[in-house]
Amino acid sequence: MSETAGRDFIRQIIFEDLESGKHDEIVTRFPPEPNGYLHVGHVMSICLNFGVGEENGGRTFLRLDDTNPGKEKEEYVQAIMQDVHWLGFDWEDRLTHASDYFEKIYAAAEKLIEMGVAYVDSLSAEEIRQFRGTLTEAGKNSPHRDRAVEENLDLFRRMRAGEFADGEHVLRAKIDMASPNMNLRDPALYRIRHIDHQRTGKTWCIYPMYDFAHTMSDAFEGITHSLCTLEFEDHRPLYDWFLDQLKPANRPRQIEFSRLNLAYTITSKRKLNALIESGEVTGWNDPRVPTIAGMRRRGYPASAMRDFVKRGGVTKKDKLIEMGVLENCVREELGDSAERRMAVLRPLKVVLTNYPEDQVEVMQAMNHPGNPDLGTREMPFSRELWIEQDDFLEEAPRKFFRLRPGGEVRLRFGYIIKCDEVIKNDDGDVVELRCTYDPDTRSGTGTSDRKVKGTIHWVSAAHAVPAKVRLYDRLFNVPDPNSVADFMTVLNPESLETVDAMLEPALLELAEGQSVQFERLGYFCVDSEEHAATAPVINRIVTLRDSWAKIEKQAMS
Ligand code: ATP
Ligand code: MG
Repeated sequence: MSETAGRDFIRQIIFEDLESGKHDEIVTRFPPEPNGYLHVGHVMSICLNFGVGEENGGRTFLRLDDTNPGKEKEEYVQAIMQDVHWLGFDWEDRLTHASDYFEKIYAAAEKLIEMGVAYVDSLSAEEIRQFRGTLTEAGKNSPHRDRAVEENLDLFRRMRAGEFADGEHVLRAKIDMASPNMNLRDPALYRIRHIDHQRTGKTWCIYPMYDFAHTMSDAFEGITHSLCTLEFEDHRPLYDWFLDQLKPANRPRQIEFSRLNLAYTITSKRKLNALIESGEVTGWNDPRVPTIAGMRRRGYPASAMRDFVKRGGVTKKDKLIEMGVLENCVREELGDSAERRMAVLRPLKVVLTNYPEDQVEVMQAMNHPGNPDLGTREMPFSRELWIEQDDFLEEAPRKFFRLRPGGEVRLRFGYIIKCDEVIKNDDGDVVELRCTYDPDTRSGTGTSDRKVKGTIHWVSAAHAVPAKVRLYDRLFNVPDPNSVADFMTVLNPESLETVDAMLEPALLELAEGQSVQFERLGYFCVDSEEHAATAPVINRIVTLRDSWAKIEKQAMS
C-alpha cells in the first residue's frame, strides 16, 4: 500500500510531519467568526479540523474569532457551539476566543514596534488607500513610516489609552510598499474603534486586525497545522512574516484547501444574512437555507452531513458540488432506518359504494419492507378514503398504472378497487371518485390471485389527521447564484410549497427528530419549531429519487 493511500494532501502532510518527528502531537483549530450561523461550507472545515485531530490522537480548539465587535453576537456563539456538537465533535476544554489573547497580541505588537518593524501611521483611511498603489503600480511610503521607535511606542500606548478618535491613527507593519503581494504593503495591525466588545466590554478601544490576531492565536495555542480556505493563500506570506519576526516557541503552518460550494445555494454568512434581513426566508434555521441549523431542522441527519463532506474530499481545486450528492447521502442514511408510513399530500376523495357504511377494518401495515424487525402497525380502513390526486387520470396514457375511469388499482395493504364514476364540480375539476372494492382481494389473505399492475397509497378519511406539509425546492434558479451580480434576483419563488395533507393516524405519534418515509413520496419529519400534536407541521426532508439530475440537465441545455 502506498503511503498516500486514502489520504488527502493535508492528511498526507500531517502523516509526514508525524513520521519525520517534526511533531509528536497534532493540534488544529476551527476558528469561526461569530457573525452568523455556520453553513454547509463550515461543516467541511469542522470535519477536517476535528477529523484530523481525532484521527491522530491530537487536540482541536473551537476558537471564536471575535476581533470585530459590532458584528458579533452571543446568539451566534451559542449556535456555533450547538452546531459543532450536533455534528458529533467535542472541543472538551478547548473553547477559546481571539479576545482571550488581546493582552498577549498587544504585547506582540509592542515588540514589533521595538524591533522597528511596525509604526503608527497618521494618514487618513482614504490617504492610506491612495498610497497603497494598485496591482500594477507600486505603493508609496507614508510620511510617518520612519517615526522613531520611542514615538511609535508612545503613540501606540496613547491609542490604547483612548486619547484618539477612530481613524486618527493605525498601527502598521513595516514590510514593503512595492511588494507585488498587496497584503505585504504595510498591512494594518491595529485600528482604533471606540466600541464595546461583547466579551471584553470597554477594556479596549483598539482592536487587532484579522491576519495578526489569527496568526498570533494559532501560535499561542500551539496549533501545528492551521487549515484554511484558498482565499487566504495570498495572506500566507504575511502569516509567515509575523512568525519570522516574533519567533514564537510554536510555529504553526498554514495550509489552504478549496472551499466547498453547493450548487443552487449560497454559502456566505454575509449573503445569508442579507437573505434573512430581506424576509425571503424565515431565519437562520429556515429549512431551505444551507446553514447547519436549517439542515438540522429540515431533517438531514448529522451522519449524512459528515458522509457528504467526506465524499467531496479535500483538494486545492474549486468545486461546485451538486445538491443531488448531498441529498443522496441523506437518502442513503434514512433508507435503512426510517419507518414507512402513509400520507396523502393532495387528497382526492374515494367512496367505496359497496363497502358497509359503518364498517372499519384494521389493516396490518409493515413498517419497513426490508426490515421485518421494525414490525407492523395498524391502519384503519373504511368506506371513504383519501388518495393522491395524481394517482387518478381521466385521460390516462396506456402505461399509466394507477387509477382511471373503469380501471383497477390495488390499495397498499388493502383491497383492489375499481373506478366506476367520476364526480366533478361546476368548474369541471374532479372532486370525488365512486369506486367498488373486491372483498376477495384483501392483502395478505391469499383468498384471491387476482393481480393488477398498480399499487397506490391511501388514508381512511374518517381517521385521517390533517397536517400542513412543507415541500421544499431549491432556493435559487441558477446553479451558481454567487456569479450573479445580485443574487436576490435569482431566488426561486417556488422554493416552498405548503400543502394540506392527510396523514394516517399512526403519524400522530411521530416524535421530534424522528424521520419517516411517506410511501412513494419521500422522507419527512416534524418541524422542530412549529409542529404541535393538535396542528401537525411536517417538513419534507428529501424526495425518494433524485429530481436534481433532471433539473441540472435542463440547466445545462
Ligand atoms: P463566510 O464567507 O461564510 O463568512 P468565512 O470564511 O468568513 O465564511 P469564518 O467564520 O471565518 O467564515 O470561517 C471559519 C472557518 O471555516 C475558516 O477556517 C474558513 O476557512 C472555513 N470555511 C468557511 N467557509 C467555507 C467553505 N465554504 N468551505 C470550507 N471551509 C469554509
Ligand atoms: Mg470570515
